[in-house]
Amino acid sequence: MIYTGSSNGLSFPSPGACIYCGDAAMPRSREHIIPYSLSGNWVIQDASCASCADITSKIEARCSRGFFSEIRTHLELSTRRKKRRPEALVITEVSKSGEIQFSLPVKDHPYRFTTVDLEPCTYLGGKDASETTHVRAVAIKFQQDYERRISLLGSGSFAHDSKIDYLALYALLAKIAHAYAAAELGHGSYQPLLLDVIYGKPVPVSTYIGGTGVIGEMTPWNVIHRCRVFKEDILGIQHILCDVQLFSNLGAPIYRIAVGRSINAC
Ligand SMILES: [Zn+2]
Repeated sequence: MIYTGSSNGLSFPSPGACIYCGDAAMPRSREHIIPYSLSGNWVIQDASCASCADITSKIEARCSRGFFSEIRTHLELSTRRKKRRPEALVITEVSKSGEIQFSLPVKDHPYRFTTVDLEPCTYLGGKDASETTHVRAVAIKFQQDYERRISLLGSGSFAHDSKIDYLALYALLAKIAHAYAAAELGHGSYQPLLLDVIYGKPVPVSTYIGGTGVIGEMTPWNVIHRCRVFKEDILGIQHILCDVQLFSNLGAPIYRIAVGRSINAC
C-alpha cells in the first residue's frame, strides 16, 4: 500500500463524518491529506468540519508560511496566490557587529533545505517518555549551482538555512498520517492516537511521532512526497502505522508515526 504524490491526484470518498472529531451532523469540507500549499493532491471528499478545518489549516499555515516558505518558492509549489509568489528571498549576513538582511533574486538565492531527523517514537521502541529524545537537523543541498550562488555572496558569513518550527512540524505529520490512514482504511476502523497532537494539547509529541533513520531515499523529481500506511502488531495489539516522507524528491528523512489501534482486531 504505497502511494506517492505524483502529478496524478487521488480522490477518496466521503467518510460520512469529520475524520478528526467524528461529528456527522455539521457540514464538512474536502480535506487535503498533504496540504495544497505543499502541492499535495490527495483529497478526501467531505471529510473535515469547520472547527477541525480551522485547526488543521492553522497548522498548515504555520508550516507553509514559516519554515517551508523558502522551499515552496524554490520548488514552485502550489499557491492560491501566484501573483504573490516572491521574486526575491532574504539572506542574512552574520558578522561581529550583528546581522544584516538583504534580498536576492530567487535564481541567485543559495538555499539548503533544512529539515530534521527524529529518533524512533517512544511507542515504537524508542526511549522512554521521561528521557530526552534527540532531533538532528539535516541540511539537504539540492541546487545544482549552489556553489555559484554562494560565490556571489563574497567572503562574509551567511545564514541561509531555514529554522524549523518543531511543534508545527509534529502537528503537520500527525495530521497527514491520521488523514491518510482514515482515507485508506476508513474513518472509525481504528482508535486514533494523534488527535491530542493535532488539537495542540500539551502532550509529549515524540510518543507517537518519530523517525526511521532512513535518509536519502529519493523519488523522481515530480513525486514530491510519499506516504505508506500499514499494520503491525505491538505487544499483541494490531496497530496502524504510517510512514511519511515530505520532500521525498530531495531524499528527506522518512518519519514513522503510530496512528491508532485497530478496532476489533487482536
Ligand atoms: Zn471535526
